[in-house]
Amino acid sequence: MNENIGLWITDILTRFVEGSPENSLKLEHEEKAFEEILVGFSSGADQIYLDYKDHVGPFHWTPLEILSLTFPETDLHADQMTVISWILPQREATKADNRKEKTYPSKRWVHARFPGEEFNNRLRSYLVHQLNTVGVKSVAPLLSPLWQRQTSPKYGFASLWSERHAAYAAGLGTFGLCDGLITSRGKAHRVGSVVANVAIQPTPRRYDDHHAYCLFFHDGSCNGCRKRCPVGAITEKGHDKEKCWAHAGVTCADYAKTHYGFDGYGCGLCQTGVPCESAIPAKIVRTKPWLFG
Ligand code: SF4
Ligand code: SF4
Repeated sequence: MNENIGLWITDILTRFVEGSPENSLKLEHEEKAFEEILVGFSSGADQIYLDYKDHVGPFHWTPLEILSLTFPETDLHADQMTVISWILPQREATKADNRKEKTYPSKRWVHARFPGEEFNNRLRSYLVHQLNTVGVKSVAPLLSPLWQRQTSPKYGFASLWSERHAAYAAGLGTFGLCDGLITSRGKAHRVGSVVANVAIQPTPRRYDDHHAYCLFFHDGSCNGCRKRCPVGAITEKGHDKEKCWAHAGVTCADYAKTHYGFDGYGCGLCQTGVPCESAIPAKIVRTKPWLFG
């Protein structure tokens, strides 16, 4: 295991997010899109990636599959590769604006979704380039020309690679009722990953199940995201992705064009103004201290 390369990766990602002018909401005035990055690592040989074939769908790539498809001439071994995952937390001003909204996203939120995700793509490419300079082959699954959307038998809309599932595997957080990943910096964020042909010590998963940080699953004491959703896409049964997309991807795109003069979309009402917006809910931290010790 190479601990130094893990530290080096965390350092270059942190400095890129801090210093890059592309970390920008691209509003009329200059304003950063994201706060300090969180980074976690999972092994390419982690059983969880095989479990995702049952859970998400048989199409979901393992790290070995996507790296082998990208470098078919190279002899690759799952236990010698790592998935590097990260969380880009939204800034307070972005969350504060969206908290006030009841039906449509704020202008900052829409910009955080679009120039924001372009910056996330830039970060993916930057890390692949940096790893290449030290002789490590890698791929950002979401930027692979082979990446496609798929339909999950259990969950509907899905794809060949789920950034949130990779982040869960890398110890960065657990899923909430609304499907968002609740991390130590909350649920309002963007997620990314790169699969690299290098063994790095995995980040421990300090949770007892995949909903460990959500109050609804803890003791039924929260349905904040459910109440925030303007179209009823969140129920006790979870997140209806089709209903969500009809609002966030279609109605909100029209709204953004009309009101902000901007081609974009997004909603994020269920990610803001809720107890898991910016941190793991305090009640979970208090009642399950062993998860955080
Ligand atoms: S708002 Fe409440 S119910 Fe929804 S994900 Fe967060 S903790 Fe869970
Ligand atoms: S993002 Fe989707 S689930 Fe969340 S509040 Fe908006 S429409 Fe509802």
